[in-house]
Amino acid sequence: YQPVHVVGGGLAGSEAAWQIAQSGVPVILHEMRKDDATGKVTTDAHQTDGLAEMVCSNSFRSDDWQFNAVGLLHAEMRKLGSLIMSCADQHQVPAGGALAVDRDGFSAEVTKRLSQHPLVTIVREEIAGLPPAEWDNVVVATGPLTSPALAQAILEMTGEGQLSFFDAIAPIIHFESINMDVAWRQSRYDKEGPGGDAAAYINCPMNKDQYEAFIDALLAGPKSEFKEWENVPYFDGCLPIEVMAERGRETLRHGPMKPVGLTNPRDPTVKSYAIVQLRQDNALGTLWNMVGFQTKLKHGVQAETFRMIPGLENAQFARLGGLHRNTFINSPKLLDKSLRMKAQPRLRFAGQVTGVEGYVESAAMGLLTGRFAAADRKGAPIDAPPPTTALGALVEHITGGHLEGGSFQPMNINYGLLPPLEAPKVDEDGKKIPLKERGRAKKRLMSLRALKDLETWMGA
Ligand code: FAD
Repeated sequence: YQPVHVVGGGLAGSEAAWQIAQSGVPVILHEMRKDDATGKVTTDAHQTDGLAEMVCSNSFRSDDWQFNAVGLLHAEMRKLGSLIMSCADQHQVPAGGALAVDRDGFSAEVTKRLSQHPLVTIVREEIAGLPPAEWDNVVVATGPLTSPALAQAILEMTGEGQLSFFDAIAPIIHFESINMDVAWRQSRYDKEGPGGDAAAYINCPMNKDQYEAFIDALLAGPKSEFKEWENVPYFDGCLPIEVMAERGRETLRHGPMKPVGLTNPRDPTVKSYAIVQLRQDNALGTLWNMVGFQTKLKHGVQAETFRMIPGLENAQFARLGGLHRNTFINSPKLLDKSLRMKAQPRLRFAGQVTGVEGYVESAAMGLLTGRFAAADRKGAPIDAPPPTTALGALVEHITGGHLEGGSFQPMNINYGLLPPLEAPKVDEDGKKIPLKERGRAKKRLMSLRALKDLETWMGA
């Protein structure tokens, strides 16, 4: 076979290269980081020239496949012979239920296994523009810090607005944890949304005391600092809420928390002082985002602060808010289900640049993209795993699981991305499951369904 080219030797590119080579197709891996006689080349976050360097935490998060979606993703990847999982298992350090690794040992192992693979060639070079036209099968896995020359070329190819350099993320909440005895559904001025829905939003009302206490908490809460290279320009429309609050105690009440055009059905005579709106975030309706609530508040205080909002007392967060430098494409518009660029099918994308978030999710997309690219090269294309698997759910998220017209934001794997199941009332032995344990039991059923469906997919 002619080789497949993989651009970027991070978490996703390393996994993609491995999967391609393991399927018997030669691969050339182009990684720009190097430390040789010509000097040191790196990104703003990487420190070494090792493949699959973990730039921050040394953890792949929970390894519990039964009750945790990222643990489930680990299990699925192990079944598919993941290089990243195998090297992580080999270099594990004690971390309770989490899979944490010795980052140097891990990266050295990934580098060694790829270097020693007879079908892998590693070239230390930057691809400083679109990959050459004669490369007919390419995986672009250049990550959140894609080099500027390549990012510019992608931007020119895809058009304005199709490539983001920052993510401004508002927290996302599991629907089942919202208290609908306090919150209610209504669109502002009952205006119909894209789907003709006049009750598209969930509204959480605040009186004056609650609003003032909330503003105090926002102002007092510790914020994460930007790194120097990360200095995010504050675009209109994505100011962090605490920055808005700093501009004046009333600013939020006239911005994202304005109470106009909404009536609390429980007592239409009482006017809310402020209202927080939630917007449906995925097609399944299991996840809702807090409209306009992008924030730099430290993760540790976000849940506590946002649970001050009436209706969100028990909110469970699928993801917390943030504002980071992050290069990612508008995948739902640009990519097909096998992660090929619709306008240039020779190019596939993998990793964080596709709009997944996290080491494991990035490697997972590398794994699938590598398999897709190799299968194409062998003339026997394959479909993505079903959306009931964690791998398939991620593909669904980045290629269309979000709502038409909604904004596309990077996301970690979580059970809210998988089609829901009824929480079981009895266990396998017919014993009644207490109410508070049913959520956990449901997760386990979803994990079991995922692994079974993955096996069926692998069989096919
Ligand atoms: P990367 O691992 O970054 O790999 C991309 C590779 O492409 C790099 O090696 C880069 O040198 C190379 N490259 C870029 N441009 C070119 C080019 N033009 N030609 C050739 N090579 C190129 N996730 C977590 O789960 N936990 C964390 O703690 C965490 N912390 C993060 C901290 C920071 C500062 C950032 C930016 C991200 C963090 N992430 C974290 C998010 C993300 O999961 C990781 O960045 C992850 O490494 C993404 O994997 P990737 O393969 O997509 O990109």
